[in-house]
Amino acid sequence: MCGIVGYIGNKKACPILLAGLTRLEYRGYDSAGVSTIEKNGLSLMKNKGRVKNLYDLDGIDKLEGTIGIAHTRWATHGKPSNENSHPHQDNSKRISVVHNGIIENYSELRGLLESNGYHFYSQTDTEVIPNLIHYYFSKNTEDNSVMGFLRAVRDACLDLKGSFAIEVITDYFPDNMIVVRKDSPLVIGTCDDEKYISSDIPAILSFTRDFYLLNDFEFVLLSRTSARFFDSQLNEFQKNTDVIEWNSSAAEKDGFEDFMLKEIFEQPNAVRETIGSRISNNLTCDIDELNFSKEDLKKINKIYIIACGTAMHAGLSGKNAIEKLCRIPTEVDIASEFRYRDPIVDNNTLCIFISQSGETADTIAALKLAKSKGATTIAISNVIGSSITREADFTIYTHAGPEIAVASTKAYTSQVILINILAIYFAETLESASCEQLKDLKSEILSLPKKIEETLECKEQIFNFAKKVYQEKDMFFLGRGIDETVAKEGSLKLKEISYIHSESYAAGELKHGPIALIENGVTVVGIMTDEKLTPKTISNIQEVITRGAKTLIITNQVIDYNSFNEVIKIPNTSPFVSPILSVIPLQLLAYYISKEKGLDVDKPRNLAKSVTVE
Ligand code: GLU
Repeated sequence: MCGIVGYIGNKKACPILLAGLTRLEYRGYDSAGVSTIEKNGLSLMKNKGRVKNLYDLDGIDKLEGTIGIAHTRWATHGKPSNENSHPHQDNSKRISVVHNGIIENYSELRGLLESNGYHFYSQTDTEVIPNLIHYYFSKNTEDNSVMGFLRAVRDACLDLKGSFAIEVITDYFPDNMIVVRKDSPLVIGTCDDEKYISSDIPAILSFTRDFYLLNDFEFVLLSRTSARFFDSQLNEFQKNTDVIEWNSSAAEKDGFEDFMLKEIFEQPNAVRETIGSRISNNLTCDIDELNFSKEDLKKINKIYIIACGTAMHAGLSGKNAIEKLCRIPTEVDIASEFRYRDPIVDNNTLCIFISQSGETADTIAALKLAKSKGATTIAISNVIGSSITREADFTIYTHAGPEIAVASTKAYTSQVILINILAIYFAETLESASCEQLKDLKSEILSLPKKIEETLECKEQIFNFAKKVYQEKDMFFLGRGIDETVAKEGSLKLKEISYIHSESYAAGELKHGPIALIENGVTVVGIMTDEKLTPKTISNIQEVITRGAKTLIITNQVIDYNSFNEVIKIPNTSPFVSPILSVIPLQLLAYYISKEKGLDVDKPRNLAKSVTVE
C-alpha cells in the first residue's frame, strides 16, 4: 500500500534508498526501514515514524553495502511500531523482505510455519514471506544455487493469497536481488550496471528513464548488470524497457493529472482489497475481526451508523442493507448531531462509526458517548491504529490504501462495500435472509472490481458533458431508495471541488417544494438503478424536463435515451451495491467540472482531509 525502493549497483545503497523513500513521503506512511547486504551479513534498520528518523539510527552511516531494499509502511496488519516496520527477516536473519499489499491467508501460513518450528516477532502478514522462502529453500537441499533460491521465492509466492509487491535479498547470494509483484505496483529502472527498483516511478525517476514495467507473477532475478525474467513455471523470457517521459509531479500521480483522478481509477483495486478474503470464491462470508454469535446479535434491537460527510453517505447504504437483510431498525446519524441530541442508546444498541482517517473529532466524541451509554461499538476506518479504532470494541478496515485528495472517492466505495459485507455477515449469523439472496449478493460483490473498470469507461462522455455545464450556478441530483443516497454523495462531491451550488432530493419530494427552483437550462442529474423505482423516478425527471431542465441520467436500466440530454449506461448489479458503480460518473462529473473551471481539485478551498476539530 505504501512505498518500496531498491538498489543494486556499485554505489553505497543506503543513501540512495533513503533519498528514494524521502521522494515517496507525499503518499503518507507510518514507519520506514532499510536492509542492505554487508560483508558480515544483512543489515536491518527500521523505525516507527518519519524517514528522517532513520538517519539517527546507530550505525546507519556505516553501511557500505551496494545492494539494498527499503520501505515506507502504511500498516494494514498490526499497528505502526518498530517491530512491525519493514524489512522483515526470516528466523535465521539471512533473508530480508519488504512487501506492499496484503497477504490474505497469512494466519494459515503462519500456523503452518509455526508447526515447522518458525517463530514470529511481529503482528504483520508480511513476516510469513521471508520465513516461507527460507522453508522452501532449506527443504530443497538438491539445489542451493541462486536458481534454487529463485525457486523457493516462486514456491512461497504461489502460496500467497492477496496482493504483494516484494523485494528479497539474502546473504546466501550477496550479488543478487529478487523482485516480483501481484496486484500491487513494482517497476525496475535500469542503467548500465545499476538497477533501481520501486513501487512508484517518482522515487527513482532522477536516476533513469528506462523502466521494466512488471506484470503479475514475473519473477525477476537481478544482478548489477542484468535483469533476468521468469514466468511462474520459471521459464525465462525477454522483456523490453519502456521510456518514461513524465516529470516528477506527473510521476507522483502515476501519470494522472491529479490525485483525485488517480484515486477514482484506483477503485477497482481498492474495492478488491476491501473484499479481500471476506468473501471467498466459494461464496462464504467471514469477517475475521468480528466474533458475534447469533445470541449476541439477537439482543441488538437498534443500530446506529454514525459518521460525517461522505462516510455518512456510505452509512446510508449500510442502513439499506442492514434493514433489508437483518430486519434490525437502523438509523444513520451525523456525528455532530448524535453527540448532542441525547440519543436513545443502551446495551442492546449497536453503534457503527465510519471514518476514513479514523481521526474525525465529532465521530470520536460520538463513539465515546455511545460507549458510555453501554452500546457495542464497531469502527470502520482506512487507517490502522487510528483513534476510532483504539476506542471501539471492534474495528474493520477498508484497506483502500492511502487517500490523498481531499474529496473522498475510493474510501467511499470501500466503505459501501464493507458495510454491505457486514450486513451479509450479520444476516448469515442471524439467519434473517434467504441463502439464495445472500449468495446472489456475494457473487455480485465479487464481480464489482471488473464492473467498476467497465464503469470508468464513461470518462470521455462525462468529460464532454462537464464542458457543457461547468459554468452553471445550481444543479440538482435526484434518486429514489438507494439512488437517493448516491444523489447526496454526487451533490456533495460537486460542491466540494467545483463550488457549484447543488442540492440532492428524494425524487418524489421535488414537487413538495424544490421544483419551484427549476427553470430553463438548470441541470438535473437523475440516478436510476433499481428497476422497481425507475418508472417513478422517470416521472419525476419528466416533471423537471417540462420546466426546461437539462438532464443527465445515470442508469443500468433499459430506458428511452431520446427523452434525456445525456444518458450514462453503467453495468447492472444488485441495488444493494449499485452505489459503487453509480457514484463513479458523479465523481468524474465533479472532477471534470472542477478542471474546466481551473480549480485545485486535490485541495479545494476551506476543506481539510481529516477534520480533527469539532
Ligand atoms: N500488509 C503489510 C503490513 O501491514 C504491508 C503494508 C504496506 O503495504 O505498507 O505491514
